[in-house]
Amino acid sequence: LGAKINEAFRKLSKESDIDEKVLDAILKDICTALLTSDVNVMRVRELRDNVKKSVNIEELGATANKKRVIEKVVFEELCNLVDPGVQAWQPKKGKFNVIMTVGLQGSGKTTTCTKLASFYHRKGWKIGLVCADTFRAGAFDQLKQNATKAHIPYYGSYNEADPVQIAREGVEKFKQEKFEIVIVDTSGRHKQESQLFDEMTQISNSIDPDNVIFVMDGTIGQSAEAQATAFKDAVNVGSVVLTKMDGHAKGGGAISAVAATKSPIIFIGTGEHVHDIEKFSARPFISKMLGMGDIAGLVDAVKDLRIEDNKDLMQNLSKGIFTLKDLRDQLEMIMKLGSLNKIAGMIPGLPQDALKGMDSEAGTKQLKQFMCIFDSMTEKGK
Ligand code: GDP
Ligand code: MG
Repeated sequence: LGAKINEAFRKLSKESDIDEKVLDAILKDICTALLTSDVNVMRVRELRDNVKKSVNIEELGATANKKRVIEKVVFEELCNLVDPGVQAWQPKKGKFNVIMTVGLQGSGKTTTCTKLASFYHRKGWKIGLVCADTFRAGAFDQLKQNATKAHIPYYGSYNEADPVQIAREGVEKFKQEKFEIVIVDTSGRHKQESQLFDEMTQISNSIDPDNVIFVMDGTIGQSAEAQATAFKDAVNVGSVVLTKMDGHAKGGGAISAVAATKSPIIFIGTGEHVHDIEKFSARPFISKMLGMGDIAGLVDAVKDLRIEDNKDLMQNLSKGIFTLKDLRDQLEMIMKLGSLNKIAGMIPGLPQDALKGMDSEAGTKQLKQFMCIFDSMTEKGK
């Protein structure tokens, strides 16, 4: 989608004189790109009308100025398309924050719970996970495995069959242990059905969450709006996480559909691994999509790595030493940022196809191989 819109902008930059006809042609290209990406036709029409209203060709003067104004107005309208314009809930320091996730089976709730927990953990919050899914076989094992890998404390039960009971016990346990955030993972069903909504309501009544996060599969495109609305009507949805947005060309469709329900999207899932999650906000998202980078996001991601916490490295560096082990640790950190493509997307000015020809996955794999080689070495003198 970004590439197609950029193509339209490129066409615009080649025009020597810009009149109503040129503007219409550009808008047509942009609208077609949005429609093929599953953005709702009404929303696309609104965007076109708004651009037409905001841009008054005759009054704009020089051609260069016209180009800039058109690009800026289109950019703003694209932001509006994916911006629900609602402030999302944030956990509060000095308080016990209870988060509950809801969503259909397979939407990515359990995966998202660990991703979120790990995200807050890296930011220094004391956070725990509760598995209140007694519907799906192996649900507790899945959460346990994820949580253990990410070093997040968890609570669940193999014997108790009542999800309300487990949710209550888990929340109570973490509260007593002075945790700051607890995330309760719930079960899903294949469809939006009353049994699921009943269970959700019972758990919600029992633990009284500060925020209910609706987790939705982002690949469902246009139907995202109907599903988000159904969940919003059934429980008090505070925010939304859209999953499986990795390399999904139609992702813009789901985002704009959810934005239309006025639910704030807080994160998007971009892969199966614990670090494959990105904070969502409209402007950086559109900026990245158009290849304009996301410096704030990059700075945030690098800050999360807490390089200064690596005492050995800091000590060595201050002495002008950089060992193989330091190199290994550095590689590990870079890989925590995500795939090479993802990092490249955050760097402004780096053309979108900068990594074309270089397979990002192969690159990442090669880095992993280096790490294995380093890990198989023994330290000198040991
Ligand atoms: P749940 O039933 O809602 O708890 O869903 P799960 O967390 O078990 O996820 C279902 C499947 O989707 C698993 O195979 C996950 O690895 C996968 N998944 C979850 N989030 C993402 C994502 O952001 N990207 C990709 N590619 N897969 C995901
Ligand atoms: Mg699950």
